[in-house]
Amino acid sequence: MLSDIEIAQKADMQKITAIAAKLGIRPDELEPYGQYKAKLSDALEKRVAANKTGKLILVTAINPTPAGEGKTTTTVGIGEAMAKIGKNAVIALREPSLGPVFGVKGGAAGGGYAQVIPMEDINLHFTGDIHAITAANNLLCAMIDNHIQQGNALDIDTRRITFKRCLDMNDRALRNLVVGMGGPTNGVPREDHFMITVASEVMAILCLATDITDLKNRLGRIIIGYSRSGKILYAHDLQAQGAMAALLKDALKPNLVQTLENTPCLIHGGPFANIAHGCNSVRATRLALKLADYVITEAGFGSDLGAEKFLDIKCRYAGLTPNAIVLVATIRALKYNGGIPKDKCSEPNVDAMKAGMINLEAHIENLQKYGVPVVVAINRFAADTDEEITALEEFCKTKGADFALSEVFAKGGEGGRDLAAKVVAACEKPNSFHFLYDLDKPVKEKIETITSEIYGAAKVAYSANAETTIKEIETIGSGNLPVCIAKTQYSLSDDPAKLGRPTGFTVNAATVRLLNGAGFIVVETGEIMTMPGLPAKPAACQIDVDADGNISGLF
Ligand code: ADP
Ligand code: MG
Repeated sequence: MLSDIEIAQKADMQKITAIAAKLGIRPDELEPYGQYKAKLSDALEKRVAANKTGKLILVTAINPTPAGEGKTTTTVGIGEAMAKIGKNAVIALREPSLGPVFGVKGGAAGGGYAQVIPMEDINLHFTGDIHAITAANNLLCAMIDNHIQQGNALDIDTRRITFKRCLDMNDRALRNLVVGMGGPTNGVPREDHFMITVASEVMAILCLATDITDLKNRLGRIIIGYSRSGKILYAHDLQAQGAMAALLKDALKPNLVQTLENTPCLIHGGPFANIAHGCNSVRATRLALKLADYVITEAGFGSDLGAEKFLDIKCRYAGLTPNAIVLVATIRALKYNGGIPKDKCSEPNVDAMKAGMINLEAHIENLQKYGVPVVVAINRFAADTDEEITALEEFCKTKGADFALSEVFAKGGEGGRDLAAKVVAACEKPNSFHFLYDLDKPVKEKIETITSEIYGAAKVAYSANAETTIKEIETIGSGNLPVCIAKTQYSLSDDPAKLGRPTGFTVNAATVRLLNGAGFIVVETGEIMTMPGLPAKPAACQIDVDADGNISGLF
């Protein structure tokens, strides 16, 4: 079989104006970036505001193996399959970060015959949104250090600056450093840190902002640190929000591209699913719902992280109601959850798969708690046997979830007909969508609702820092925000070694932070990597470009 990039480069791409026309978008409502990408104008958003709202379908997954289980591939495949069964659909995805592209995981534009294109552009700089976020984030950092240099009227405590610089690159050397070295004209020395841009609060803000005014207000509310007397300081204390919003003016507009089969796809924003909420922008999802009958969107990591945050944070802020949830599972991930090492997961082993099905069971039960119909999609890999698939189908039936085999990686939309039909049917089923917790509950109660109901934990252990910060958050009146727990994606618990469906464990609430601009309380369960490093053999070593500008080696 051809590699992802080889398949993508053979695609019959249509001009972006033709893709836009499928959604009733006029050429003057497009802001083209070349011939195959365009931003969608604010005027379009206003014109379609009164249109009927389409059905919203969330794609999520069980706990994955380190290779990823195919959420993006399935999301794209369902979009393509909708066209095959005569439905009008649009896909809404996150923008890939350069970190994983050059690291281990590779790109994030789907795979096989279910990809979004031009995949080289989407995976590399795309329309520059992530760079704009980097610039806005680092403008605030420059203003903080300059304020200190110019006399520090706010009395910023240089040991308690919580807002960090960022770069969209896996670069571990930037995790901890000292800035301001070199004497009086070169700044005031202090310890600083970089995050990868997708972990920046500015990314989370861009993805939750409904318009430019909301964006600016949220940017102003970012907490930058403390004064020496312990007062919380905000970005608006430095008057930074206007210039930051100016840098983000175009980045706030959703991007339109297409799939290999010319299905329209909005790609916009890409926050992490651990320290942030893990889904594409509110603006893109809302706009998509006004442009097509079915909107298929993805949330990052497994459903314990991505779907929980999509439902409890994004849907709450954006007033969205999901009509169906697709839970992606792979036979290899079930075997992995059944205790098989990752290099042996491609060997047939029904017993190991059955042992790992408890992980799928937990995710089905968790999603059913939200009152939304669930369809399990088995993302088929070449190594999967019929015996394994049949055993899995039987199991899903006993759990009251619909089941479909998805072959979109190998066959494109044609391989997703059954899945798309089941998704359409699920959208018509009774739906009693509700959030898992109420905002007015105490912070600890919200945390414990998630850890017990979704993770299956027995209790939460709070560090002294977590206790103090929670009290402080409640004292300043921000206790009514949703909670965003950051933990490993490999386990339902906060320990990546606990596979399957662990019970009786304690979740460690190590650090609590208020992302006051984004509007949620982050609870970190230990060391959460916000600046990844590159592996011994980075994917970057394979990537090349020829004399004609053709890129190779992306995957
Ligand atoms: P996720 O969104 O869950 O992280 P992706 O859709 O990005 O997962 O897929 C992860 C990787 O697995 C990609 O490189 C993709 O090409 C590959 N992949 C996905 N589905 C299949 C499949 N059915 N067979 C082989 N490879 C697949
Ligand atoms: Mg993905």
